[in-house]
Amino acid sequence: MFHYFYRMFYPLVYDEPLFRPPSEAYSVIFQVTLGCSWNKCAFCEMYTSKKFKVKPENIVFEEIERIAKLAPDTRKIFLADGNAFVLSFPKLNKIVDKLNSNFPKLNRISAYALPSDIIKKTDAELKQLADSGLKLLYIGIESGDNELLNLINKNETYRSTIEALIKARKAGIKLSVMILNGLGGQKYSYQHALNSAKAINEIQPEYLSTLVLSFPYGQNHYAQKFKADFAMLDTISLIEEMGTFIQNLELENTVFRSDHASNYLILKGILNRDKELLLKRIEQVLSNPGQAGLRPEFLRGL
Ligand code: SF4
Repeated sequence: MFHYFYRMFYPLVYDEPLFRPPSEAYSVIFQVTLGCSWNKCAFCEMYTSKKFKVKPENIVFEEIERIAKLAPDTRKIFLADGNAFVLSFPKLNKIVDKLNSNFPKLNRISAYALPSDIIKKTDAELKQLADSGLKLLYIGIESGDNELLNLINKNETYRSTIEALIKARKAGIKLSVMILNGLGGQKYSYQHALNSAKAINEIQPEYLSTLVLSFPYGQNHYAQKFKADFAMLDTISLIEEMGTFIQNLELENTVFRSDHASNYLILKGILNRDKELLLKRIEQVLSNPGQAGLRPEFLRGL
């Protein structure tokens, strides 16, 4: 009896913490993996409380069937946790098939992925997933700078990232790519901005966003995990870094968003169409930071 009422009020019980991209706010989320299979990036504390696991298929399928009865018209589904795309092609394909047969109006399935999760799948496997509805991957590439990728222990390089992301795009999967503003601190700021722009230019993702490096356990905690000396950027330097990054972007048609809660300055547009407008806004802020409309609650070092 207790089980019955519990299921009625909590049809899906998540293994917390649960994260999703802002654009998946109205999606149904199924946890098909728990945690992150890498879990060792210097700046990331998202899943450090969890040990990575693949959720048993029978439990995932039972959850899908249960939610399908409650929300049969679901159109968007996000697969969690950290890098659900790490699942092998046969496992992912079975989940995608199960979702399609239970949600007839389903329009999009998406997931977080690491470049290494993509590269392990063949072109034909990626295409089949895309054709079956797994149409969008969110990938925090963080930086395009090889030195910095090593210092933050990302386990990827400029080349491995580009190769994987281009492979996914060619298969018909759309990409939402994230860069971390301030990641390398003062010393690596310029090369981070420049090489991240180069990487993005090669990838030409459909969506691009920037988040600001934050320190949930304090700056020292990050500095200890960063494999070199780390000196944090103040707000103005963070915005200068954004200026260098945007200045060097050469994009055909990418939706750009820098409007996460961590961003001091909200920037949005289509790139390159709105590049000059965004650069002008940055220039205004840098020439008169006191009047610039920066989010006052977050200003650091001003
Ligand atoms: S791969 Fe992503 S989720 Fe995993 S530790 Fe790195 S940033 Fe965090």
